Amino acid sequence: MNDRTPLLIVGHGTRSAAGVAQFAALVDRIRRRGTVDDVDGGFIELSRPPLTDAVGALAGRGHRHLVALPLVLAAAGHGKGDIPAALAREKGRHPGLRYAYGRPLGPHPLLHDTLAERIDAALAGADRAGTWIALIGRGSTDPDANAEVAKVARLLWEGRGYAGVEPGFISLAEPSVPAVLERLRRLGARRIVVAPYFLFAGVLPDRIAARSREFAVDHPGLDVRVADLIGDCDALADLVLERHAEALRGDIRMNCDTCAYRVTLPGFVDKVGRPQTPHHHPDDPADGSGHHHHHHHGDHRHEPALRPGQVAVVGGGPGPDDLITVRGQALLDAADVVVADRLAPAGLVRRLRPGVLVVDAAKVPRGPAMAQDTINAMLIAHARAGRRVVRLKGGDPYVFGRGHEEVLACAAAGVETVLVPGVSSAVAAPALAGVPVTHRGVAHDVTVVSGHLPPGHPDSLVDWAALARARGTVVLLMAVENIAKIAAVLVEHGRAPDTPVLMVRDAGQPGQRSWSLRLDEVGGLAARVDVTPPAVFVVGPVVGLRG
Ligand code: SAH
Repeated sequence: MNDRTPLLIVGHGTRSAAGVAQFAALVDRIRRRGTVDDVDGGFIELSRPPLTDAVGALAGRGHRHLVALPLVLAAAGHGKGDIPAALAREKGRHPGLRYAYGRPLGPHPLLHDTLAERIDAALAGADRAGTWIALIGRGSTDPDANAEVAKVARLLWEGRGYAGVEPGFISLAEPSVPAVLERLRRLGARRIVVAPYFLFAGVLPDRIAARSREFAVDHPGLDVRVADLIGDCDALADLVLERHAEALRGDIRMNCDTCAYRVTLPGFVDKVGRPQTPHHHPDDPADGSGHHHHHHHGDHRHEPALRPGQVAVVGGGPGPDDLITVRGQALLDAADVVVADRLAPAGLVRRLRPGVLVVDAAKVPRGPAMAQDTINAMLIAHARAGRRVVRLKGGDPYVFGRGHEEVLACAAAGVETVLVPGVSSAVAAPALAGVPVTHRGVAHDVTVVSGHLPPGHPDSLVDWAALARARGTVVLLMAVENIAKIAAVLVEHGRAPDTPVLMVRDAGQPGQRSWSLRLDEVGGLAARVDVTPPAVFVVGPVVGLRG
């Protein structure tokens, strides 16, 4: 990518022909500037051209690297969810397509100056000092987006000499247009300019004008005027190009600290850590025809819920980088510090963004028991220093992963934790070697057993005789050293000597190897094959199902 990388402008769509024409005019204006190599624009719903055509056109002209810019004023559902999801689908259609995702347009001085120009035009010479402004935003179920409108209202007031600027909303949020006009009237306003905080024409800006006229009719003494929309103009083109440059530099400075998807806001606790979910807008067409919402955060640089001072205990899966959960990866992307286990997938650690402090827990000095105390203390210390801490484990943190010891240690220290389950090698290693741990008519139970202590060890909690009598599947972890003794004790207590056994070493890794043999042959195994940890043993009739 370079600073002339083509620009894809993504609109949300409108049922207003005038709005579509303004969008097209802006795309054209930016194209005529000639400062980037190519420019195209499309909509994710309602209007033509659809996004897929715009991407197709750019791809058809040979472009594989793009800047994709959501043409929205504030980060809400469209910018955080719908547009990244639509772009992700385009990536699926065009192999090799890469794009940098830009941030929403506002707040920005170019927008505030443009709003002031539109207000001045409505004033037509009347003085600012005697004028109150009602700045009307779209309104959102996302509190952050509503707060942005309040911020813009304040910035519009600062230094411009209006009597005052109050925010209001045309949809989904309070105060409504009549409510904010009534508030200004009670404050003593005689002249009010209603300024829609909208880029282009549409159903909602029309509704703002209609509500304002109704209020004016009901209050004959009051001078209520409606300013023009921001519209297609040079200032908007300048701002779009600034966002383009910013995306290319990777310099996207979004403030996500008040985002409901990331932190707990009163009344919005259900959103923390969740993907953006589909919600019905009262303004959407009733039938929703042709809309395919696949909301997720896509390439949006929007970090999930891992707050400074919290520790996330994350299961990284059995090894391949893509067997971590989506939630686990998201928390990893948000981390300031990652404390990685010996068996944590190495590729995940390599792919952390620069600047993340990585601690290799396998290198923590002193004996094993002390090492756990040291790790606990380290997690707590980083959390108390206000960092976002991820404790990355192999497999699942609660399957022989000591995850709960760390959770309890953090809790005792007053540090909040988040637990993200993982794909355990107990199930995944056999599966990756072609063996299911259960199978209808073959095995209706599976027992996951630690082979860390040999049978007969005073600290052992395993009833080996019971496992020998059972008919189902036994999965042994950490058993390389003791496998001969374990096999012998199982035969001794009644497991058939010809019970098939599978051994899987380095499951999911390039060095994955597996062997199957009989239970009574296992004792001699170590002499014949290269059995080194990590390895999983599977004992039971399911091993015979291997394709
Ligand atoms: N929490 C982990 C298990 C930790 S105990 C999980 O849920 O997977 C460590 C043991 O896990 C190893 O001794 C080995 O038995 C098993 N193991 C982990 N990763 C493995 C892999 N990639 N291949 C085979 N065995 C693995």
